[in-house]
Amino acid sequence: MADAILDIRNLSKSFGGLKATDNVDLDLRAGEIHALIGPNGAGKSTLIHQVCGGIRPDAGSIRFLGKEVLGLGVAARARLGLGRTFQISSLALDFSALRNVMLAVQSRQGSSFRFFGNVIADTGLTDPARHALDRVGLAARASVPAAELSHGERRQLEIAIAVALGSRALLLDEPMAGMGPEGSRSLTRLLDTLRAEVPILLVEHDMDAVFALADRISVLVYGRVIATGTVDEIRNHPDVRRAYLGAAA
Ligand code: ADP
Ligand code: MG
Repeated sequence: MADAILDIRNLSKSFGGLKATDNVDLDLRAGEIHALIGPNGAGKSTLIHQVCGGIRPDAGSIRFLGKEVLGLGVAARARLGLGRTFQISSLALDFSALRNVMLAVQSRQGSSFRFFGNVIADTGLTDPARHALDRVGLAARASVPAAELSHGERRQLEIAIAVALGSRALLLDEPMAGMGPEGSRSLTRLLDTLRAEVPILLVEHDMDAVFALADRISVLVYGRVIATGTVDEIRNHPDVRRAYLGAAA
C-alpha cells in the first residue's frame, strides 16, 4: 500500500496460552483516522504497546514510514515519529502548559538540558511550542500550570506535545476516557482537524466519537481482526453485530 504510514502484518503475541494478538494485519494511511474497537480484553492495548515498542511480538512485522521497526526500542520509534499520547503523570504539573511543550521540543532537538531559566527566552523553543498549543486550541491557556488544567485540557496538552515532537502518526488508547460529553466533543473536533497532518490509530470505547471520526474501523475480538471497513460497513457487518455491537448498532 503506497500511502500506508504504518503497516502491521501477521502480528502475533501470546501471554502463556492466551493469544492476545492473533495474526493481525492493520494499516494506517496518510490523512485518516483508523479506529480500533472491540470488547474489553480483546487485545487493543496490547497491540498499541507492540507498535510503540513496549511489548515485543512473537511474530510478524511492523513497518513505519517504510522501515521495519521491530528491532527498535520505544525511544527510537518515538524519534522516528511514532507518537503516543503521554500518560497524564508524565506532564510536569507545576509547569505551565507552554513549558511542558517546550521541554518536549527541547528533547526533540537533542540539546543537553539547559539551565531552565534560559529556556523560556529561547524562541527556538517557544515558537514551535506556541504553534503546537495553538494547534490543539490551548493558546489562551499557555501560562496556566498543568495542574490547573481540566482533564480534557491535559489531553489536549498531551496531543500538543506529540505534535511538537513531530509525530508522523498518533496512537491514542482511549483518549475520551473519563471525559464529560463536552470534553469528548471538543476532543472529537480536535482529532477531526488533526488527521490531515497526522494520521491517527484510535482505540476508543465512545462509539459516538468512533462513528463521527473514523475513516475506517477495525474490529478486534479475542486478538483477531474480524472485520475492517467504513463506518457503514462495520455497522452493518453481521459478524460485528453478533460479536460486539449487539443491539447498540
Ligand atoms: P483491551 O485493551 O482490548 O481491553 P488488552 O490488550 O489490555 O485488551 O488485553 C488483552 C488480553 O491480554 C487480556 O486477556 C489481558 O488480560 C491479557 N494481557 C494483557 N497484558 C498482559 C500481560 N502483560 N500478561 C498477561 N496477560 C496480559
Ligand atoms: Mg485497553
